[in-house]
Amino acid sequence: ADKRTEFMARIKAPGGLMSAEQYLAVDALAQKYSQGRLRITTRQGLQFHGLAKQDLWATIHGVNRALLTTFGACGDIARNVTATAAPIEDAVHRRIRADAVMITNALFAKTKSYHEIWIGDEQIKPAPADEPEVDPLYGTTYLPRKFKIGITAPEDNSIEVLTNDLGIIALFDGDELQGYVFAVGGGLGMTHNKAHTYPRLGSYVAFIEPDDLLDAVKAVVKIHRDWGDRVDRKHARLKYVVDALGVPRIKAEMERHLGKPLEDPRPFPALKIKDHSGWHPQGDGQWYYGLPILSGRIEDKGKVHVATALRRVLSEVKSRPVFTPAQDVIFADVAETDKARLEAILVEEGVTLPGFETLLRRFALACPALPSCGLALTEAERVLDDILVDIEGVLKRHGLGDERIALRVTGCPNGCARPSVGDIGLVGRIPGHYAIYLGGDFDTTRLNARVFERVPMAEIGRTLEPIFALFAAERTAGEGFGDFCQRWGLDRLAETVEGAQTA
Ligand code: SF4
Repeated sequence: ADKRTEFMARIKAPGGLMSAEQYLAVDALAQKYSQGRLRITTRQGLQFHGLAKQDLWATIHGVNRALLTTFGACGDIARNVTATAAPIEDAVHRRIRADAVMITNALFAKTKSYHEIWIGDEQIKPAPADEPEVDPLYGTTYLPRKFKIGITAPEDNSIEVLTNDLGIIALFDGDELQGYVFAVGGGLGMTHNKAHTYPRLGSYVAFIEPDDLLDAVKAVVKIHRDWGDRVDRKHARLKYVVDALGVPRIKAEMERHLGKPLEDPRPFPALKIKDHSGWHPQGDGQWYYGLPILSGRIEDKGKVHVATALRRVLSEVKSRPVFTPAQDVIFADVAETDKARLEAILVEEGVTLPGFETLLRRFALACPALPSCGLALTEAERVLDDILVDIEGVLKRHGLGDERIALRVTGCPNGCARPSVGDIGLVGRIPGHYAIYLGGDFDTTRLNARVFERVPMAEIGRTLEPIFALFAAERTAGEGFGDFCQRWGLDRLAETVEGAQTA
């Protein structure tokens, strides 16, 4: 297709939830309009790439006919609400899923223009009586920039809750919801050589009673709306407002909007990233199966038919998909008697089952970058496999082949694959070269930091090798790679590598 008339369309799916029928409808649209390819996004949505302009209406109309939407999946507005993807049937997971859907529905803009354009509603003038002229939440000018919300419980931080503008941590006592801790001001985007832009993790601001959830969410959105930078787009995220005003002032603003004092954040257990790959009991007698998909790319390529595998599983085995923030798919609601059949389909379609890949590969993330993204300075997804092979070789040489390491690769500092958290971040600097970030933790509760500048792609493994060697020799029992780097000292680590350009 002609680049000038080629589009991406993104489906908003709170908590990565959709039915098998809805997925199959989207897959049929992809076969017709986007070369059979889809991408699972890092916010649990689904994307079509390479849509021709003349097919846009049919695609988005088809999405809407499947009772899904692209409305609010992009733009200066509340984006897809992420939520723990584990389809566990207990009070905790049910409540979190319901909250994610409730927040999503409440934060849609009230305009009807989307429906007029993409569904085919007749254009009605003046606006229908139920459409306020000014959106009650977003006003006339909407938000200064995008607004990301994620909700989870501490024991499953797979959504990387602190990377959101608003991270919501639901606290339970057994089955009973106690309330929510609000972490405000997360966001990973930055611009090279612009010191006033930087990645930031959310700050714990307040504890919210269950009945106040929606009003408290809206209060934080309003703070972004009213205080966010509307002059410099690169500086327009809520995180800069939190740093400018300070956490006590943010809490006071929330209290003003809610009209009552708020409790300080209650303590909660450590945030932990869970591995949802493979088989897990769902708690209702059924099973779920997590299938890692490299870069979330659903397509048939060579002998590996990921798109066909998903289509077949979801039409031949009773199940439904849940998309994860690690760009993977979970097949939920699988009966014990269907487990073997599901795995057989995957094997028939050449898909690597979990357990047959390295943990580095299982947890790796890469953004689309070139050729899909106009902001990309260099490659990410298309070179992820090469980078993995390189690093896997180095790890193996040092007896670290089974090590659980979070590697993230992006083609620019915008941070779509969350490179500022996790053990290793590779961020495109100039064509073919990456800055290497180290010292974050696997559970994404600490930012990493730039250690090397402009490392040519072919030199990444060689640059990391002395550090892996040191890690193998000096780590304490159970210590993760990022934690080791932090303990050892990033400056000292840089000194172990000869000839690399340090930050
Ligand atoms: Fe594009 Fe940069 Fe986001 Fe990658 S991180 S998808 S290159 S904007």
